[in-house]
Amino acid sequence: MVYGNHSEKGSRPTIQDHLALHVSWLHGNELTVSDQSEHAGPKAPRQIRVLVKDDVIAVELRQQRHDGSYYVQRQQIALTWTACHYGGKRLWFICPTRHCERRIGTLFLSDDNVFRCRHCLKLAYASQRQTIEDRAAHSANHIRRRLGWAPGILSPVGGKPKGMHQKTFNKLVAKHDDFAATVLCHISACRNELGNL
Ligand SMILES: [Zn+2]
Repeated sequence: MVYGNHSEKGSRPTIQDHLALHVSWLHGNELTVSDQSEHAGPKAPRQIRVLVKDDVIAVELRQQRHDGSYYVQRQQIALTWTACHYGGKRLWFICPTRHCERRIGTLFLSDDNVFRCRHCLKLAYASQRQTIEDRAAHSANHIRRRLGWAPGILSPVGGKPKGMHQKTFNKLVAKHDDFAATVLCHISACRNELGNL
């Protein structure tokens, strides 16, 4: 049924961190799945009910809030069939993300509690990383301006501006180097990710 495992390899989210929904589970009219793995984290377990209609499934996700009330999220996912080589039909989900709509056998529950295909999940992480990288680059440039250095983390570093305390200067340089390392680290992470696509 639905499973959830956390990768042991570090904090970067992977497909294995997400609840999966396989098209092969859609036998009968209704499917109830619970996210009660020991890895589900501090959040309350999510109950996921899937109603199978003709060419669409209706997914209802319920999660109890701290105050005892329920958060409910509903999503409709279209189904499609292709003819098999040796007769019969094969069932697929159509990824519900707008502008994706891939034919796909497995969907994953993303952090915003909707199911998406693995391609859409990767894109979501790429844009999150972009945001972190952008913020770090912006902060590095802000410090460079204060120090009178040329903008851009790959530009040469300069000296201490006149009148600035050595302690302040050291602190700013250390901060700048941290932000620069964040940018460089994310650039290399993105490159690895692109290599895997
Ligand atoms: Zn998709």
